[in-house]
Amino acid sequence: MELSFHPYTLTLRGTFTISTYSRTTTPGILVELRHDGLTGYGEASLPQYLGETVDNAAKFLSRVDLSQFKDPLMTDDILTHVAGIDHGHCAAKAAIDIALHDLAGKIIGQPCHKLLGLDKAKAPATSYTIGIGSPDETRGKVREAAAKYKILKVKLGTDHDRQIIETIRQETDLPITVDANQGWRDPAEAIDMAHWLAGQGTLLIEQPFPREDLDMTARLSEASPIPIIADEAVQRATDIPRLHGAFDGINIKLMKCTGMHEAWSMVATARSLGMRVMLGCMTETSCAISAAAQLSPAVDFADLDGNLLISNDPFHGVTVSDGRLVLNDAPGIGVRPAERQAQTFTI
Ligand SMILES: [Mg+2]
Repeated sequence: MELSFHPYTLTLRGTFTISTYSRTTTPGILVELRHDGLTGYGEASLPQYLGETVDNAAKFLSRVDLSQFKDPLMTDDILTHVAGIDHGHCAAKAAIDIALHDLAGKIIGQPCHKLLGLDKAKAPATSYTIGIGSPDETRGKVREAAAKYKILKVKLGTDHDRQIIETIRQETDLPITVDANQGWRDPAEAIDMAHWLAGQGTLLIEQPFPREDLDMTARLSEASPIPIIADEAVQRATDIPRLHGAFDGINIKLMKCTGMHEAWSMVATARSLGMRVMLGCMTETSCAISAAAQLSPAVDFADLDGNLLISNDPFHGVTVSDGRLVLNDAPGIGVRPAERQAQTFTI
């Protein structure tokens, strides 16, 4: 197996603002794994806040030599080897994991979701994220999104959270999910807010408090009529038992957890503890989004909109129809390079 990679810059359709920062581009690295005339595609999305840089990820990928592995279907051995090269580098490891699953699916001639025993007809709706903006900007974004999507995700954690929801409710009755990105501080206020949000058609609250504040989170989960989902508090499968009791569920992201292999074990771990499962993403191309979507028939909530928020997607893959994720039957993760791929990058 031969590995190659190159950095890219994804361009966001608009400035994306959450409670902690704003950005207009996201760097990343595309990975290709070749074997016997077939190519598996993978991707590392490297937003600044995750702490992995393009330089570091590229250095890690340069150290990965898979020439000793003659059979790409030995994914467990291969990924154990990659995990052992160095600690951390979760997004770079995810890129290899995704490419390997894509390649394995292509060798077998089946889509990954089928190899996992999942029915693509059960793929859920994806939420579509509305960033923080002025009331006019928010109304415009909501109007546009409500025509295409069935669930809107709203970034909160501001000093005017209720006003944001009220602005959205002037435009649409669609169910919403909210993500405070650790921006809330007061448990009593949060409990009031959870009740109010439930009355406003909110399905779940993501990461209300700083990730280490499990006691406060447990108080809220106990009192909240809607599920409280861990995002920043969870990275790998080993984090999940500690969160049981504080959170009702977890948000799994391939870039944080090292890829599809670990994500699948996180689904199983969360289920064994009776927890809800959500699949999320970074700003990513249709490559990593389609990879995550392969697991989506097994989860309760999907927030796989990263590819919908960029203007230079170099792949075609999973699509959204009537708000739902639509998986295709192509082998592997179900992507093909877009025509004129080279021109879509700002390298
Ligand atoms: Mg989140």
